[in-house]
Parts: sequence; C-alpha cells; structure tokens
Amino acid sequence: MCLPGWMNSKQNAREQGLDLIDLGMGNPDGATPQPIVDAAIAAIQNDANHGYPPFEGTASFRRAITDWYKRRYDVELDPDGEALPLLGSKEGLTHLAIAYINPGDLVLVPSPSYPAHFRGPLIAGGKIHQLILKPENNWLIDLAAIPDSVAQQAKVLYFNYPSNPTAATAPREFFEEVVAFARRHEILLVHDLCYAELAFDGYQPTSLLEIPGAKDISVEFHTLSKTYNMAGWRVGFVVGNRHIIQGLRTLKTNMDYGIFSAIQTAAETALQLPDVYLHEVQDRYRTRRDFLIAGLGELGWDIPKTRATMYLWVPCPPNTGSTDFALSVLQQTGVVVTPGNAFGAGGEGYVRISLIADCDRLQQALDRLKQAGIRYQPERVVQ
Ligand SMILES: *Cc1c(COP(=O)(O)O)cnc(C)c1O
Repeated sequence: MCLPGWMNSKQNAREQGLDLIDLGMGNPDGATPQPIVDAAIAAIQNDANHGYPPFEGTASFRRAITDWYKRRYDVELDPDGEALPLLGSKEGLTHLAIAYINPGDLVLVPSPSYPAHFRGPLIAGGKIHQLILKPENNWLIDLAAIPDSVAQQAKVLYFNYPSNPTAATAPREFFEEVVAFARRHEILLVHDLCYAELAFDGYQPTSLLEIPGAKDISVEFHTLSKTYNMAGWRVGFVVGNRHIIQGLRTLKTNMDYGIFSAIQTAAETALQLPDVYLHEVQDRYRTRRDFLIAGLGELGWDIPKTRATMYLWVPCPPNTGSTDFALSVLQQTGVVVTPGNAFGAGGEGYVRISLIADCDRLQQALDRLKQAGIRYQPERVVQ
C-alpha cells in the first residue's frame, strides 16, 4: 500500500531501535469480543466443521447476514443468491474485478481510495479513470464533473462512504444520485461499506441497497475486521445483485474453498451480538478522535469532527508533500502516519492517521510532535 521507500524508512527506524508509534495501518488494536471467541472455540471442537465448507458459505451465516440487513437497513435480501461470505472483503473486492472486468474495460475509481479499489481492476487489465476528490466537495465524488464520453464507456464504479482514507461520509441524496447516474449509464456500482458500524454521535451510515432500484445494478461489501476487531480472522461478505454475486462465486469455486466453517459460526455470532458491543467499539474510536483532534488543534490543525471510521485525514503543512511530511514526522518523532498519495494522486497534500492507539500513546505522539516543532501554520497571504 505504501511506497517502497516509505516502507524502508519505517523498517530502518525500527532497526535503529526507535520506539515507533505506528498510526499508519488500518489494523484495529482491540481484542475480538469474548462471545465471538467462545463461539469459535466451541465450533472448532465440533468435528462436523472439520471438512471443506460449502462453496457458497454456510446457510446459517448467509441467513445471519440477510437478517442483519433487514434489522439494520430494512433491506430484504435472499440468503440463497444475494449474499456471499468472503475471506475478508479485500479478497472479494479484488476477485470481483477479476470476475467482471475484461482487459481494456473502463473503471471509475475515486482518488484517494482504498488501494484494493484500483489494484483489483488493474490486475484484471482494466483502465482506471480517476475521479479526483476535493475538500471543497467534502471529498464526495463530483458526478457532474465526469465527462459524458467517460460515463458512457465506464463499466464499473468503485466507491466507499464512510471513506477510508478521508473519513468523509455521504448523505442519502448522494447515494440516490449515484444510483441514477449508474442506471443512466449502465454502470455496475461496487460500494464498500466497511465502516458501516464505526459511526459516532448518532450518525447512521447509509447502505446503497436502501436506495430503490439499487439492487439491479449494485453490490455492497462488508467486513467483520473493523467492527468486531476480527482483522486476523479473514471474514467478510458481499450482498446485492444476484447475477454479479453468481459470477464472483463461480470464479471463487475455481480459486478457494471458502471460509473455515468454525469462523463462519463466529462471524454469525458477531452479527447477532447485542448493540452494547458496538457502542463499546464506537466509544473507543470516538474518544480517541476527540482527543487527537483537540491535541492537533493545539498544534495549529483545524480538523473537522469526523462522523465515522477510525481515521483522521490531516493536511500537511503548506508547501509540504505527503511523502516528505510523513518521512520527516517519522524521522523526527518515530510516529508513523500514512502519506495520502499512497491512496492515489488525489491524496497528495494529506496524511492519514489511524486511531489505533489508546489516548496515552496518542498523547506521547502529540508530545513528540510538539517537541520537534512540527505544527500546522496556515499559509500567509503576502500582500
Ligand atoms: C480495512 C478495509 C477493508 C479490508 O477488509 P478485510 O475484510 O479485512 O479484507 C476493505 N475496505 C476498506 C475500505 C477498508 O478500510
């Protein structure tokens, strides 16, 4: 995901014995909730789970997925054909590209975006048309700026709100506009709703499938990795249009045997947990968000309150590029942040900070920035 030189620097710093505060990755730092672990242990003990799992995932996990959709979004889905368990959503996002995109097909991808959203289409031989996101549009895709000739040719649009890396959220009207745009131009919508549950202050992210007619032209990806601290378990799922899902499933039957059934039992348990578990994880990230926004505020940054995700999207000081800024922060302080241009050219001028350390550790990071004299000073207008 990062530039090779960048990775070397992190490795070098580590080898020099620097105490790194790694806020670079999107790897949640908490433990998986105990009921999920307990369900997995019990399922591992059951030898009925020791053989190959069914290709299309277990019936009970698929049912848990569609029940969850009904409960969360009031969206009806058929567990036989409109929901497919995945070995993590990254696997599915990339395999979907391989299943659906032919060499030379035009794919619309925002910039910045989560790397699998452009790497998958590139692996499939697709041509990427970057949709550059801008702060003045609140990091939303500007559909009106897409030339008609491009929209006519485009086969797929990947997008992701609440967004990694910008932490932007999209109002329901935006989803309605995207659906109308995609219907008009016969474009498949691939929405990544990875941060469905990591939302704060009463904000509830929109599912693309809530929009009437969306299911005709869309699929939506989810992961258990972030919400339930299950990144290492490798489990996610895709829902939506049955023909698209069938195509992905057919490709996958030639590549993998699906998810260990015991892990599907654990994932099913996760989706059925009472909301107090969600509130716990939401509170953790909200507390860190408030803490870091306040601390960066003392160093000159004015970061708007994010309503979702586990990231802050932070402008570099004026006239400093993403890579240079991230490198100098690393070298001077041992704090790792991700250069925004690792997510595409549209991320230049920003860094992404992951809220994956507790407030004590975030305070240390802030203290080190302060000691090193790293601050944000808005550009002076010279008269
Ligand atoms: C973390 C992340 C993923 C990866 O999820 P897995 O299910 O762990 O593969 C997918 N999409 C986005 C936007 C992410 O931030």
